[in-house]
Amino acid sequence: MQPLIDNARTFGQRPEEFAKLAAGQSPQVLFITCSDSRVVPALITGARPGELFELRTAGNIVPPYLSDRPTGEAATIEYAVEVLGVQDVVVCGHSHCGAVGALVRGDDLDGVPAVRDWLAHAADEPGTSDPDDPTVMGAVQNHVLAQLLRLRSYPCVEKRLADGRLRVRGWYYEVHTGAVREHRADTDRFEAL
Ligand SMILES: [Zn+2]
Repeated sequence: MQPLIDNARTFGQRPEEFAKLAAGQSPQVLFITCSDSRVVPALITGARPGELFELRTAGNIVPPYLSDRPTGEAATIEYAVEVLGVQDVVVCGHSHCGAVGALVRGDDLDGVPAVRDWLAHAADEPGTSDPDDPTVMGAVQNHVLAQLLRLRSYPCVEKRLADGRLRVRGWYYEVHTGAVREHRADTDRFEAL
């Protein structure tokens, strides 16, 4: 922890870059990804402060939209779309994802009941994956597509997709290489950006 504190102590010594942020934010992208520490959206995209609005959840899950039971995830998505007017939403899954791996393997999660219940409530079965493949690539990519479907069902997203003001993208990030692939509708495959 100490190196992180040391960095934070000196981080604010760049007033000229940050002063304009007091005027507000107008990010063009909502970036939804896993809480995994190996996935660093600003590093992957090169985004500077103010450029990416982020939602991070265990397993980059977009939970079902429930109008009678608001969630923090739905609030973040709705704010990004309706108030900030982002033009793109990226759902980015990643290789070696612990959440997707647990679903694929059917891990016993009774020791972490909140994780167990979150995955049970929010995630669909991501499909099978090669048991010898530690990246769980196939399952993660299926899982990303399932989250995109969920996202499209959010009323604010559905409306803006229909009138062409919003695009949604599915990404797959390899934590061990840094490579990013995007789902292409024409080939129905994840291909290099
Ligand atoms: Zn993950």
